[in-house]
Amino acid sequence: MYLSELFKRKKCLFSCEIFPPKKVSDLDSVYQTVSGLQRLHPDFISVTCGAGGSAPGDNLTVKVASHIKEKYGIEPLAHLTCVNTSRSNLEKTIDLLKKNHIDNLLALRGDRVSDYGATDFAYASELISLIRQRGDFYVAAACYPERHPESRNKSEDILHLKEKVEAGASHLISQLFFNNNDFYTFVEDVRAIGINVPIEAGIIPAVDKRRIERIVSLCSATLPTKLLNILNRFENDQDALFEAGIDYATEQIMDLISSGVQGIHLYTLNNPAVAEKIVKNIGGLLMEVNGK
Ligand code: FAD
Repeated sequence: MYLSELFKRKKCLFSCEIFPPKKVSDLDSVYQTVSGLQRLHPDFISVTCGAGGSAPGDNLTVKVASHIKEKYGIEPLAHLTCVNTSRSNLEKTIDLLKKNHIDNLLALRGDRVSDYGATDFAYASELISLIRQRGDFYVAAACYPERHPESRNKSEDILHLKEKVEAGASHLISQLFFNNNDFYTFVEDVRAIGINVPIEAGIIPAVDKRRIERIVSLCSATLPTKLLNILNRFENDQDALFEAGIDYATEQIMDLISSGVQGIHLYTLNNPAVAEKIVKNIGGLLMEVNGK
């Protein structure tokens, strides 16, 4: 099933993101994560690709995505990156995804690695065009409420975002952010230039100080003073930080849902306990807006 069907049925989706293992021998631990998440009934589960050293579009993303679909009947969204690989490798991966009945792809450029080898694609928009030519897929793409770190300014970034939609992206998932006003301003700007596809808000609960600092330094998201104070105050008390981080993310999500966001995409970092707490907090409101 294409994810477009879900947007027809619900006002606000709830999706989770996980990453595959680096080695086949670690697949079972990721399958445990999937087992924990499926109990929360997410609308779809996305599976990253390439991040953390494994080959772009490697079979582990395909394996985990297939497992989600076959074992639980939940739609997977398989991530596919296009830099640091060749057109023919991408074509093979796209064909493999189709063979495994994966209908939904998140087309990404990926981060540039200098010593990786052939790169036939410079931007995600080119990958989106290839996927569209190659098969019958639903394609989503990434967007950046605070702009992509390589962009000179927000308007230039949004113009390139429009190219991705024109190339065939039907749905956008945002980079994580901690200040909802950044997201609201971004959505206004994006709508103003005629991008009308659904946009999901990417949320990461800040339950681990070192991990959050590392992620934020990689993606250049801004840490608001309130959250910075929480991270500093509870840095030596893991349980208290867990509660405070969940509370911060819950507040963010409740505000987004109340403001009409079309989806919440939870970066779970393969921790179902975090997702479970969030769902416990927001489940009622989600059911209310979706009329269930
Ligand atoms: P693009 O859309 O190609 O944009 C990259 C930069 O190039 C932007 O600054 C853009 O403005 C600019 N640009 C685009 N087109 C042009 C043009 N024609 N001329 C000049 N400049 C242009 N990474 C992984 O490795 N694996 C994953 O699984 C993964 N999942 C992600 C999921 C989400 C929801 C998000 C938000 C990010 C994810 N990433 C992942 C990170 C992503 O790969 C990086 O942020 C990457 O640097 C950019 O990818 P993109 O698809 O947004 O690139």
